Amino acid sequence: MPHDHHDHDHPHSLLPSDPALRVKALETLLVRKGLVDPAALDAIIDTYETRIGPQNGARVVARAWADASFRARLLGDATAVISEMGYYGRQGEHIVAVENTDSTHNIVVCTLCSCYPWPLLGIPPAWYKSDAYRARVVREPRQVLAEFGLVLPEGQTVRVWDSTAEIRYLVLPQRPAGTDDLTEEALAALVTRDSMIGTGLARAPE
Ligand code: FE
Repeated sequence: MPHDHHDHDHPHSLLPSDPALRVKALETLLVRKGLVDPAALDAIIDTYETRIGPQNGARVVARAWADASFRARLLGDATAVISEMGYYGRQGEHIVAVENTDSTHNIVVCTLCSCYPWPLLGIPPAWYKSDAYRARVVREPRQVLAEFGLVLPEGQTVRVWDSTAEIRYLVLPQRPAGTDDLTEEALAALVTRDSMIGTGLARAPE
């Protein structure tokens, strides 16, 4: 293969600065070299845009609120229970559910990088991956929660769970008051993404 001195002198001059353009350039190159199948890429993107997201975790939480035996099984072996519901795959190999109560509030972080239960919550938000969140939530969880607009009662213990490549956590938020008559579907609509990370609470019914 002939050596191109021009490229060597300006190795990055052709790379667009915008991340989306860089991704597109990389994708074009990989497809052209036959290293990836465009249909497979489209399927992955569609999966994370439409099939995988916090709506999955919300269905799990709503069912746990509505069905005591399901809740007990979820707290006993979340991975098995959510797999039965069809929620499994990358970053979902071993999930542990931790339950919020009047005495304990749980919050999840990955201090090392950004481990997150993808099959239940989708792709993590930018703040979850930020240095500030990962460092501070361990040292001053109440302060961080207050910045999310969540001020907990003094008497409630805050437990911080550090995710790893082996274990990811799902917070089971407390069921809001006044929801006794709601269907599972209506309950699921009250479950926010942040309430399943622990940086928020489930919404009150209207
Ligand atoms: Fe991580």
